[in-house]
Amino acid sequence: MSACDARLAFSFEVYPPKTVAAASALTRTIDHLAAAGPEFISVTYGANGSSRNSSLDVLRYIKDQTSADAMAHLTCVGSSHTEASRLIREFLDAGIRSFLAVRGDAPQGAAPDDTTFLGDLHSAGELVQLIHRVQAERVPYTETVIPGLPSARGVKTERSKVRIGVAAFPNGHPNSRSVTQDIDTLLAKQAAGANLAITQLFFHADDYLSFIQRARSAGVLFPILPGIMPVTSPNRLRRILQLSGEKLPAELSIELEVEPTEQGQRQIGIDYAVRLSQDVLAGGAPGLHLYAFNQHDTVLSILEGCGARPVPAAMP
Ligand code: FAD
Repeated sequence: MSACDARLAFSFEVYPPKTVAAASALTRTIDHLAAAGPEFISVTYGANGSSRNSSLDVLRYIKDQTSADAMAHLTCVGSSHTEASRLIREFLDAGIRSFLAVRGDAPQGAAPDDTTFLGDLHSAGELVQLIHRVQAERVPYTETVIPGLPSARGVKTERSKVRIGVAAFPNGHPNSRSVTQDIDTLLAKQAAGANLAITQLFFHADDYLSFIQRARSAGVLFPILPGIMPVTSPNRLRRILQLSGEKLPAELSIELEVEPTEQGQRQIGIDYAVRLSQDVLAGGAPGLHLYAFNQHDTVLSILEGCGARPVPAAMP
């Protein structure tokens, strides 16, 4: 059961640390996040596998030292089919059963249609299939007799035990030619065996809610978690817009620019994220996925603002 006293499902996202000091700070952050009772804590994967070992270390910490489920992001970037299979097997051997399969981004300066950075796998859908295949190869084949059929049919009962999330883009992927293409891509990921999606950040509830409506009409069945990113300074807003290609949210931008104190800016970001979260939850969102930026206090304040009260962690 969740450690929160309101029935709100939520998850967190962190990134692998770059220094020893950051690694030790992150374990404390994870302790606080895990104590709030998330569905899972996901750990991003750096471009070109640059964070392979540190991602796995963080995932192992979540899995072995906390009660939270650890979700590993994996990308298609730079791997041959054999290398990608080996990597997936390594994560499965470490006990990881939840994945977020993403394609990964081209290096800075690459042309939008350049796919040479990818390797053998060219889309998140192919990575989803590969995770299922590698998982299926690890478990014994189980024969199940289906009554009424002339002969026994075999099914691999373990297949459904892997949770595989994928990315969704309420305002369209920057390379997407049309809204239809984004929905078709999501359908392709579903067909490949994904059972969850997490959205790119967005700034208006209607961006998410209208996207869900279009996805449901097209036949997307799995839960689509809204990705909520606290924007607690004008610098962070600029950086996020640069990375995501989202449009400038004028109202939030002005509020942050005119507020002179860091504390005030932080509160503006929290209040904005709380309103956004409340609106998407009221519109039927199945929960919240909170981008934690490797800090616990801001995202826990957002949960509190949404009426979920994480139990204070008894930690050093
Ligand atoms: P895909 O689903 O493969 O799609 C990429 C593009 O190809 C889109 O334009 C899509 O429309 C098009 N496309 C795909 N399939 C088809 C098809 N069958 N027919 C036509 N067009 C198609 N990046 C990292 O490097 N590490 C991370 O840890 C990471 N985590 C992320 C977490 C979330 C929640 C999100 C939203 C993104 C994350 N990313 C991460 C970024 C992601 O790698 C990029 O956004 C990438 O450009 C797209 O990834 P994708 O999985 O959506 O790709």
